Parts: sequence; C-alpha cells; structure tokens
Amino acid sequence: MLRKDSLKAYRDMRNFSATPEPSDQLPDDQRIASGQIFVIQKHRSRSLHYDLRLEVDGILKSWAIPKGPSVNPKDRRLALPTEDHPLAYAQFEGVIPEGEYGAGAVIVWDVGTYENLTEKKGRPVSMKRALEMGHISFRLDGRRLKGGFALTRTGVGKEERWLLVKRADEEADPTRDPIAEHQDSVISGRTLDEIAGDAL
Ligand code: MN
Repeated sequence: MLRKDSLKAYRDMRNFSATPEPSDQLPDDQRIASGQIFVIQKHRSRSLHYDLRLEVDGILKSWAIPKGPSVNPKDRRLALPTEDHPLAYAQFEGVIPEGEYGAGAVIVWDVGTYENLTEKKGRPVSMKRALEMGHISFRLDGRRLKGGFALTRTGVGKEERWLLVKRADEEADPTRDPIAEHQDSVISGRTLDEIAGDAL
C-alpha cells in the first residue's frame, strides 16, 4: 500500500481520460529490464528539460534536470525533485495534451538499469535510506550514459534541490556532450518534433 500512496500525487495531477500517460503499474511480465530501471526522458513542456527517474521500491523516484546530464565531472547539474511516477512511465513517449499537467512532447532519451553504490562508513546504504540522507551514488548501465554518478541534496522543504554530478571514472569524458550528440529517442529513433507532429 505504501507504493500506491506514493503515486497519489502523480494521479491527482493528471486526468487519464485526457493524457496518454500511464495511470498505473505494468504487470511484472512487461518489465523492460531485469534489475533496477533508470530512464531519462526528454520533455518539452513550458521549458525543455530531462527527467531522470530511478526505480526504488516499485515506483520511479524522479528529478527534472533543466540542462540534462553531463559526463564531465566538473559539471554540477541542477536536479529538481518531482512526484513519484509509476514504473510503466519508463516506456512512455508521446504528447501530453494542452491544458494537462506537463503539456508537451516526451521521448525516452536513455533507458537501462542502475546499481546503487551508496555507502556510509564503508557499509552499503539502501536507496530508501540514501534518499532520506540526501546523497545517492549509483552506476548507470544505459545505452548513452554509463558509469558512476552522484545525486546530492542541497536544500530542503520547498527549496529542495539536488545536484547531479558525473563521477570521475573511466566513463567520464569532459570532451563529450551526450545531450548535443543525441537528439532522438533511444527506443524509437524519433525526435521531439516528430513526436509532437503526431498530435497535430
Ligand atoms: Mn518533465
């Protein structure tokens, strides 16, 4: 029941007879990967941003990253927490209609699995605890993003914000800009404009 309660905000913000977004969980046999899912969705609503979602205890914890992820460990990317999303959202591409929450086009920019690497005093820390602590270290195994990243909370309450930073590992590369390199969906190969055109 915890899981359902955590999706209440998600459901309350949407009219599922108007938006094509998923209303609830996928059956387990339709999961897209074994292991914990991560997804990054490119979303053009009032402004363009990238939604990072990490599977935690049956839902997707979510952050909106205005500039998108960087693979340069010197970059600190603002990540604003948003409401928990259902797991099924990891496969969502489409157009949220005008007048609905988050109206605009969405594509799946990267998807894969992640591993929680968070430790405290040399001991592993669960994702639930890491979220409470405000520091998560994780390794992505996506198509476009790989390697270690850290999310760190820098403000609380209404001012809650996090920073996403690439860890300095062999997957870090200050010369690369994956946001500029990859404009299209990792699953359909389509761009936001192409997806948006479907709704016209
Ligand atoms: Mn969004």
